[in-house]
Amino acid sequence: MPDLTTELIHHPYRPPAGFDAITAPVHKASTVIFPSVAALRARDWTHESGYTYGLAGTPTSFMLEERIATLEGGRYCALAPSGLAALTLVDMAFLSAGDEVLIPDNAYGPKKAFAQHELKNWGIGCVFYDPMDPADLAARLTPRTRLVWLEAAGSITLEYPDLPALVAAVRAYGQPHPRGIVTALDNTWGAGIAFCAFDMGVDVSAHALTKYPSGGADVLMGSVVTRERDLHHQLLQCHGRLGLGVAANDVELILRGLPSTAIRYAAQDATTRALAHWLHGQPFFQQVLHPALPDSPGHAFWQRDCTGAACLLTLAFKPAYSQEQVDRFCDSLQLFKIGHSWAGPMSLCAVYQASSIRSRPCAYQGPLVRLSIGLESVQDLQADLEQALARI
Ligand SMILES: *Cc1c(COP(=O)(O)O)cnc(C)c1O
Repeated sequence: MPDLTTELIHHPYRPPAGFDAITAPVHKASTVIFPSVAALRARDWTHESGYTYGLAGTPTSFMLEERIATLEGGRYCALAPSGLAALTLVDMAFLSAGDEVLIPDNAYGPKKAFAQHELKNWGIGCVFYDPMDPADLAARLTPRTRLVWLEAAGSITLEYPDLPALVAAVRAYGQPHPRGIVTALDNTWGAGIAFCAFDMGVDVSAHALTKYPSGGADVLMGSVVTRERDLHHQLLQCHGRLGLGVAANDVELILRGLPSTAIRYAAQDATTRALAHWLHGQPFFQQVLHPALPDSPGHAFWQRDCTGAACLLTLAFKPAYSQEQVDRFCDSLQLFKIGHSWAGPMSLCAVYQASSIRSRPCAYQGPLVRLSIGLESVQDLQADLEQALARI
């Protein structure tokens, strides 16, 4: 008889094959066991069932990758420990010293900061373009441009760009980089539901699964999806060298949220649109920014390309209102909590100043408040906004 400790580690019981349930099994592994040395030599980490080591994936993470690729209409997926890490993976997989990356001026803030610090330090140029003007993008392309980022709708100010026209401007460029130009979309807002990124012509879609696919405001994760095998392999090789692992318990949370993603998206979208229309009629704002409002920038492109509008709206207060007054509005909200992120069950607000998040002149000089609408009832949320606006 082996010693008890040994027996507990090398126990003969194995769970039966074929046990079936609605939820996915959670496989947790750093070490993956091979039946023989020959099997270890033969196994290929680039193949979907080629399990080699926990960092290269388990059946649990591959299951989520399959489903996110399906959600977005892509073919291949790689997971990263946060949405921001997914964006960074795309930069690092495709950019080399001497290259240039083009980023919309209304892109997710921390992604712009990565370009202005790390990428710049590594000798990679970064240029911000006006996402509402395809001619501006076209004018900024050079033979060094290797990667063009897109975001729809834009971060905070929610301008909705003409994505097919932006992609067409890139494709029409006559002196492309020797390794070609990759177009990459931050697809967190559309989430694979409002529109199909690949139908818009983009090569790569990055997504903060932290938002809709989770839906719980309790887990961080990101994904990068593509239809092109070559692009996926470049991403996967960089991913492996960076050591971007995701924990199986976190994957389990996303798999649990995923079946209700489309239903939550639609429910939060409906509440957000109702509040946007009501707020639009209030006297406090220079503009209520939400792509479904006819006077919101890019409304016509949103109407042409999208079947949904997510759960974000931004209040551009009239410049006559001081930051102090707008802070008082936010502090007076009861149901809306003050905090970052969105697409969770609870409504949130966050305060921004256009001049500090844009490198180009911005039409909104007053304080900005971004609202993320949760799953609460629309009447209760409207009443909360009404009482807080009365205190301004
Ligand atoms: C939240 C967000 C990210 C980053 O996701 P994290 O998981 O929080 O790192 C990236 N892009 C957009 C548009 C986001 O809203």
